Amino acid sequence: MSHIFPRSMKSTPPTAVGGKGCYLIDSTGKQYLDASGGAAVSCLGHGDATVITAIKAQLDQLAYAHTGFFTSQPAEKLADLLIANAPGTLDRVYLVSGGSEAAEAAIKLARQYHVERGDPNRGRLIARKQSYHGNTIGALSAGGNAWRRAQFAPLLLDMSHIDPCYPYRLQNEGESDADYGLRSANLLEAELLRVGPESVMAFMAEPVVGATAGALAPAPGYFKRIREICDQYGILLILDEVMCGMGRTGTLFACEQDGVAPDILCIAKGLGAGYQPIGAMLCTSEIYDTIGAGSGFFQHGHTYLGHPTAAAAGLAVVSSVLDRGLLENVKKQGDALSAALQDRFGQHPHVGDIRGRGLFVGLELVADRTTKAPFDPALKLAAHIKAAAFEAGLICYPMGGTIDGKTGDHILLAPPFIIEDAQIAELVDKLGFALDASLPV
Ligand code: PMP
Repeated sequence: MSHIFPRSMKSTPPTAVGGKGCYLIDSTGKQYLDASGGAAVSCLGHGDATVITAIKAQLDQLAYAHTGFFTSQPAEKLADLLIANAPGTLDRVYLVSGGSEAAEAAIKLARQYHVERGDPNRGRLIARKQSYHGNTIGALSAGGNAWRRAQFAPLLLDMSHIDPCYPYRLQNEGESDADYGLRSANLLEAELLRVGPESVMAFMAEPVVGATAGALAPAPGYFKRIREICDQYGILLILDEVMCGMGRTGTLFACEQDGVAPDILCIAKGLGAGYQPIGAMLCTSEIYDTIGAGSGFFQHGHTYLGHPTAAAAGLAVVSSVLDRGLLENVKKQGDALSAALQDRFGQHPHVGDIRGRGLFVGLELVADRTTKAPFDPALKLAAHIKAAAFEAGLICYPMGGTIDGKTGDHILLAPPFIIEDAQIAELVDKLGFALDASLPV
């Protein structure tokens, strides 16, 4: 009997024993094409020699030193590399162990910034429906996914959730993309005016929504208008790039493509590419200097902050993404994947939308393409698709629709940046098999 506390208590997963390139291998020798990198983590694929060598070298030199006493060479180098490539005036890097920790740090930093600049009334956070920012209480409060929040509601922070920018479902017939982007962003201003802008500390959003909406990219101009509203009302913009950052959409930071820079930015997943648990929160010099000139101490911290071995892994991963031409491959294979999906499923009666950026691609499933009605959640389609794909040797990331029926079931694809033509074809074939096996005819 296993003593592991599994993800699902109703089933026992196979045991993973190896990984090579785009494939994972279980203890029976079965190979799986890892088309979601777990949850958009394994951007370099499995068994990357450069990253493994860097980790081993770091372990030989220094595994760990507590940030209460020391900084370390890999942490400093990783911070330098991230800032050299970061948009806007992002200037400081706070290294944590994952995405939820980065989101928690971001929320607390935003709050402390306003307190230290003498504006303690700013305590409210505005985020969006159909979003996910992590599973710890603060990050879960920020997320707007009703299913994930339901059981914990009494413990969560009081905040506002506005509609996401969701062209497939919320753009009006005949409305231009630019008009919709503007109208959708203006929901933030309306909410600020409703709650009183002087009570709000920050707005938090994923540039391209991952887990809860399947690679949902905003309409053009959306984030530019969001940035303007934040500036006008003195609230901070926190962008959560835990899933969509670190090259996943074809640029190192996803927000580069929207022409905006946040005040605080969260990354994780692809930062360590699965080789070590690592995440980061980046902030501007304005925020850092305000607290620096005040208390001089961010009231936060974890034992594994700035972990040297994790930082060495992050440094090797980001260097590889930048130096090995992988951003170009993300664009090239991202286009190829989207085109192949359109070709195969563009007219499928139950595929309502195919969307995304780079190698971050989503399919939204609907019972009826004309009305866009989602499937009944009781069908548990996402679970069936995941199982059928797994059986066929494909790892993808299907999620159920929202319980309020405002998003259909969707499938997220986030394969490694090293993916090649043959594996794109294998992915689409196996996904076709999984859909045929799971969807009603
Ligand atoms: N933010 C986003 C956008 C995410 O997708 C996730 C994880 N799916 C998180 C935060 C939380 O990250 P972690 O699971 O590493 O805590």
